[in-house]
Amino acid sequence: MSNSTSNTPSTSEVTSTATKAFRGEILHFLADPAKVAEEESYQYFEDGLLLIKNGLVVAVGNATDLLATLPVGLEVTQYDNGLIMPGFIDTHVHYPQTEMIASYGAQLLEWLENYTFPEEKQFSDFEHGKRVAEFFLTQLLDAGTTTALVFGTVHKESVDAFFTIAQQKKLRMICGKVLMNQNCPEDLQDTTESGYTDSKALIEKWHNTDRLQYAITPRFAPTCSTEQLQKAGELLKEYPGVYLHTHLSENKNEIAWVSELFPDSDGYLDVYDKSNLLGRRSVFAHGVHLHDHECQRLSETNSAIAFCPTSNLFLGSGCFNLKQAEEFDVNVGLGTDIGAGTSFSMLTTLNEGYKTQQLRGDKLSPFKSFYLATLGGAVALDLEGTIGNFTKGAEADFIVLDYQATPLMARRIARCKTLTEKLFVLSILGDDRHVKATHIMGEKV
Ligand SMILES: [Zn+2]
Repeated sequence: MSNSTSNTPSTSEVTSTATKAFRGEILHFLADPAKVAEEESYQYFEDGLLLIKNGLVVAVGNATDLLATLPVGLEVTQYDNGLIMPGFIDTHVHYPQTEMIASYGAQLLEWLENYTFPEEKQFSDFEHGKRVAEFFLTQLLDAGTTTALVFGTVHKESVDAFFTIAQQKKLRMICGKVLMNQNCPEDLQDTTESGYTDSKALIEKWHNTDRLQYAITPRFAPTCSTEQLQKAGELLKEYPGVYLHTHLSENKNEIAWVSELFPDSDGYLDVYDKSNLLGRRSVFAHGVHLHDHECQRLSETNSAIAFCPTSNLFLGSGCFNLKQAEEFDVNVGLGTDIGAGTSFSMLTTLNEGYKTQQLRGDKLSPFKSFYLATLGGAVALDLEGTIGNFTKGAEADFIVLDYQATPLMARRIARCKTLTEKLFVLSILGDDRHVKATHIMGEKV
């Protein structure tokens, strides 16, 4: 365990009344455990202290070292029998699908037709969007998720509603209006032109407002004409720093449909590549059935995949090949993909992620799991240094996991001898009940 280093703050940094200190067991990641020696990938402090000033991390380290630097009288919040770690990051989720979670019996294309499209029609109503956004964001925070990359619907009102509520809660959130102008119900279609102008207006209004950022959001290749995808590429060029968020190679019938619709493309990813949609801030959900040359292309463009195990199992899409992504050095984050995903909880998502790798005959180590849920998500979203770990200057969104929230967890944790074991047990038995506290910019919510 690398627990010897700590950034020692100067005395002036901790004299402000806006300084907060939290003491307890602390874990955060510094690198991908698959890329460096595992013990180099994280910092763990059995009795640690997290120091925050004006919502940003000032220092993290051993409590005994840091306590001596604190001004007299500064209150220290103690969290016992738990683990303080950065807030979880959900790199692919649909807020408008919150109320249709657990819809029975379909794979991707029928599921969209039968459940998703009818549900999304309601989001032309700004007030409806706000009500669902309020519930959705509360669910995320209860589950310990503090940042997400979120689909709206085709209606610009859906994004206005989402950002309005996220702004009130002071959250770091990324969202976008869906682009879809073909192969979906007519009353849910935009046009190449209206999709472009609505997205542009939303970018101007919301991107980099407080902690909010915008993602240009083509639903997926089948529902977008080539013209619409190209216009999305133009928009991306016009607004550097804006995200691109879409779906990729989730389901075999979907992939076959894409090759029929775009016969000139060399595979699914190439449809997006031809419209210049790949890049450092491009996130593709799923990528369950990728060819090596596609992984190569994702890697060289620094694009990311959102690995969504509960959704991939629920829709029978398949098991994501994490090993292949690692071999090609593709950025990977974790996604719940609500409402095809079956839980808001990133812990539950880790549980099913582990099982998908077991089915492949591969291992998902507990360190890699918690890396993916925190720093891995930040890297996928190009937000390393801003969120995802306790590096100095990072935004202090963090959670406290509770080892004793349930009798079974308490009993099982009591038998654990190593951090590795404890993390694995948390990832297999944990859910939203095991999130004792969620802090946004240092404030408990
Ligand atoms: Zn999705």
